[in-house]
Amino acid sequence: MSILVINAGSSSIKYSLYESASLRLIDHGLIEEIRDHHEGFEVMRTQLLVHGIDITQINAIGHRVVHGGERFHEPALVDDDLLAEITALIPLAPLHNPANIEGIIAARTIAPNVPNFAIFDTAFHQSMPPHAYRYPLPNDWYESYHVRRYGFHGTSHHYVALQASDILQKPLDEINLITFHIGNGVSACAIERGKSIDTSMGMTPLEGLMMGTRCGSIDPSIIAYMVHQSGMSIEAVDTILNKKSGLFAIAGTNDLRSVINAKNRGDENAILALDMFAYRLRKQLGEYMAVLRGVDAIVFTGGIGEHSPLIHEMVCEGLEHMGIILDPNKNCHGEIQIHDDESSVALLVIATDEERQIATYVKEHLKR
Ligand code: ADP
Repeated sequence: MSILVINAGSSSIKYSLYESASLRLIDHGLIEEIRDHHEGFEVMRTQLLVHGIDITQINAIGHRVVHGGERFHEPALVDDDLLAEITALIPLAPLHNPANIEGIIAARTIAPNVPNFAIFDTAFHQSMPPHAYRYPLPNDWYESYHVRRYGFHGTSHHYVALQASDILQKPLDEINLITFHIGNGVSACAIERGKSIDTSMGMTPLEGLMMGTRCGSIDPSIIAYMVHQSGMSIEAVDTILNKKSGLFAIAGTNDLRSVINAKNRGDENAILALDMFAYRLRKQLGEYMAVLRGVDAIVFTGGIGEHSPLIHEMVCEGLEHMGIILDPNKNCHGEIQIHDDESSVALLVIATDEERQIATYVKEHLKR
């Protein structure tokens, strides 16, 4: 009895197989440079067979789907209507939803009797109130074009929030958290009594904090200005904002380890990139401290959030007056709880596991 979790990208398929009852990880793999998703699924079927697992005999498949629009606030069982709804959302996530849909279609072809569930990156943030998710733009842009904030990384924010509730030994619906998912993509979430009430990414994953190659929030007039001044097309500017900005633009690399190494050699661009990166995280922390009116814990996760004591230190430095006191010793020794005993806000470093959370959602759904 097992649950398969699929993350289908444009040229790759990542899979994890869990034992249904215990959610023990049985197998996982990454199939890269696929020509199409059917081919990728055939490769995966063969790899699973080597481990004695027949894909047609598993209990369910959970698919990561990036954009669920306003329609999906929880995992959904896939049928033809649901596929049509996710397809209709492609304009909101043209870079991601098509591959996610291809993955679902391939799964239905290869294992027609196995139920498929779609798990949306946006779903956890559907609890945001209108004052947080609306942009101050014409009503018609929202009503006719669905221009609003959706937020992403929802599965990760939810997973680490559940872990934080375990660590703090308090029910999730009784705690307030600020969660920072800091990897190549970066987002923060304000969680009030277990529910997302605000998050830093917006209609697309471009809004918010400075990222590996994405700029995060900038003055929107920059786009028209650069189109006019440089003669670049809107598409070219958009590509630069998504793929050539962030840490990459300032430091010449999107890999934070390389940025830190360059900083240690005295590289001025790297020093600036790190200062900008941490400054924006600090500003976000301040915003959400005000939004939540009381915080039990701040959680760091993602490749950087889990592994960079320097970023924890730069974000938390000098915030004693807000009840945030980092213990440098615990921080440098890879502990989960890195706050000083005197800190009124807990500081937690929690490894995210989006695949496991997807398997958990599917397991809960199967029980219904
Ligand atoms: P993605 O968003 O693509 O899943 P990850 O969550 O794996 O990315 O995060 C990748 C980032 O984590 C890179 O910038 C990488 O340099 C950074 N990172 C990983 N390990 C460390 C470390 N020990 N110290 C600092 N940064 C790290």
